[in-house]
This record gives sequence, structure tokens and C-alpha cells, in this order.
Amino acid sequence: MSGIKLTGVSKSFGAMKVIHDVDIEIEQGEFAVFVGPSGCGKSTLLRMIAGLEETTGGEIRIEAEDVTRKEASKRGVAMVFQSYALYPHLSVFDNMAFSLSIARRPKAEIETKVKAAAEILRLTDYLSHKPSQLSGGQRQRVAIGRAIVREPRVFLFDEPLSNLDAELRVKMRMEIARLHRQIGATMIYVTHDQVEAMTLADKIVVLKSGVVQQVGAPLELYRNPDNMFVAGFIGSPA
Ligand code: ADP
Ligand code: MG
Repeated sequence: MSGIKLTGVSKSFGAMKVIHDVDIEIEQGEFAVFVGPSGCGKSTLLRMIAGLEETTGGEIRIEAEDVTRKEASKRGVAMVFQSYALYPHLSVFDNMAFSLSIARRPKAEIETKVKAAAEILRLTDYLSHKPSQLSGGQRQRVAIGRAIVREPRVFLFDEPLSNLDAELRVKMRMEIARLHRQIGATMIYVTHDQVEAMTLADKIVVLKSGVVQQVGAPLELYRNPDNMFVAGFIGSPA
């Protein structure tokens, strides 16, 4: 079954067209990576899928449902950003519980969900800590925890690791791969880092100037790049 389907999706800011008739299909439970240089439209595409940015044209479906005009909060999508913007005055528990609290979910349900997410993210011993008492990697995990408790159909990651140092990035990359294996939800991960794309993806979407260059499994792109841009970007000697 299709997890996410984009058909002819376009976006203009005023007279400037930044996304050009994008067609992408991601299977349910698949880990897709959007990769391309800075400014190619990765964040804009993700924000359109999340409902944080209106489309100028085309259609977005999530698990077969047309969500193109649907409010962000009703799409069943959760986004994890690079700047994790945790509430500094709230504990780890309350940061993760926040969206459920404002949705007035019952206390017992909130506790169950936050504890389950903390378990997955190895934050159980830190639930009463404040963000300032955590390492960068732990803070990023809290940000991911905030997405997990909402039980979204789709997780969207916008360069979530780019503020972390190289060593931590590798560790967190493995954590995200583990999270995907464990939760099995459809995920889209945006990065300008080829290594991240190659190691995480079931399917890579290569973008250049708002145009899809190629879609395929990492090895497929590596072995059979459609053009010089893909070859150069994925790093094959083609
Ligand atoms: P990426 O995430 O791949 O770095 P973006 O999606 O942020 O790229 O940006 C794609 C293009 O759209 C860039 O040319 C950027 O300047 C432009 N852009 C993004 N957001 C806006 C906006 N709110 N208003 C005008 N132009 C924008
Ligand atoms: Mg971006």
C-alpha cells in the first residue's frame, strides 16, 4: 500500500517556481530520503507534505487519502526539525507530553505513551531532567519523542542531525534506523549528506532545483545513475 503519493506537486513563491511537477510514491513503512544541495527544495516539499505550506499545484495523498487541502494537525504527520526547540522550563516528560496535554488526552494515556517513547529512545532515566541538563544527542531524541507520542502515520525529518558533531551524527543515524525498524512507520528524511542518504534509505529521491532527478534504491542510483548530477551526487565514478 502507498504511504505517501505526490502527483504533479508544484510550489511557487510569488513569481519564483521552486518545486516543479514532482511525482513521488513512497510505500507504507518505507524509509525515503530526499537528498540534494542546499536550496533545491527539500524543506519546501516536506513542509507541503506536513501541511505547513500550501501547494501551488498537484495532489498529496497519505495512505490513499487526499490531504492536499487538509489542515496540518489532521494529516497524521509529525515533523522533527533540526532546531529542536524544546521548552527549556519543562522536564523531558512534559516536553514529550506537550502535544497530548494540549489535546487534553487522559493523564494515564499520556503517561503510557511518553514512557513507551522514552523506552524506545533510551530516555527513561532522564524524564525529570530539564533540556539544559541533556547532551545534544539526548535533546534530539526528546524532539523525536515528541513526534512518537503522537503516533503519526508518517514521520518527517528535516536535517535533524545537522547541528550535531560528526561522531554523534553517526550514532544518531543508527538510532533513527533502529527507530524505523522498531516502529515501522513511513518516514521521509531530508539531508544534503550523501552518506546519510546511502546508509538510511530504502528509497532515495535526488532533487536539483526543485526537479526530481531520479528515484531508486541506493545501489540502483549508485550503479545506474540517470545523469551526471546523480552520478556526482551519489558519488559513483560513472
Ligand atoms: P532546501 O531545504 O533544499 O535547502 P528550501 O526548500 O528551503 O531548500 O528552498 C527551496 C527554494 O525556495 C530556495 O530557493 C529558497 O530560497 C526558496 N524559499 C523557501 N522558502 C521560501 C519562502 N518562504 N519565501 C520565498 N522563497 C522561499
Ligand atoms: Mg532545508
